[in-house]
Amino acid sequence: MHPHVQKLLDLQKVDLEVSSLTRDIDQLPEEEAKRKKRLDQLERAALEARTRLQKAEVDSRNLDTAARDADAHIKRLNDRLNQVRNNAEYQATLFEIESVRKDRDATQDEGLKLLEQLDGLRGDATTTLAAFEAERKVFEEFLQEAGKLRSERADEVAAARARRAAAAEGVPPDLLREYEGLYKTREHQAVCRVDDGYCQGCYNKVTMNDTARLMGASSVVRCGSCQRILFIA
Ligand SMILES: [Zn+2]
Repeated sequence: MHPHVQKLLDLQKVDLEVSSLTRDIDQLPEEEAKRKKRLDQLERAALEARTRLQKAEVDSRNLDTAARDADAHIKRLNDRLNQVRNNAEYQATLFEIESVRKDRDATQDEGLKLLEQLDGLRGDATTTLAAFEAERKVFEEFLQEAGKLRSERADEVAAARARRAAAAEGVPPDLLREYEGLYKTREHQAVCRVDDGYCQGCYNKVTMNDTARLMGASSVVRCGSCQRILFIA
């Protein structure tokens, strides 16, 4: 095997270790953002449910007060009925009582309807708050686990990266760049074996000429189809 290819093969082993050490850690920020978004949605839902409930409670109290005020008004009008001097005034007062009573009944109906809704709104507020609190707990646990994983892994990653630097030493810079590009774009397999004349990266046939060059081990040979750097075991 060409000495540079041998070096790249060793380097690829270290890179695979680094990749497997950092794979789950690399996914953490995206996972955290996803979870945070979900948590924010739940918080908004809980706040909205609480706001709806509070508004309904205020409305309900106001309607109650309005109905009581109307009752007091009716009582005053009834008292006046006993003092009126003539029939016209009497009729006018009766008419006013009727009008206030109608408004009072409408207010009361509205208040009753709202009362019926209050239980549902209370339920919503409780349920959405519980869902938010539960998710927040899960999120905090996730953050703790993520932090633990990061710090536990930090030493291992640092050690693997140091090994990587050592393994990359002596590889010509152009070849190293080519290898690094392939490692990224070829599913972490930049250097790959040829078996029975087939590239094991893309399973295309390697030409006789390239096979001969591989056997000679005097130059770096790439797969004509997938450009991976080849070796024969
Ligand atoms: Zn190939």
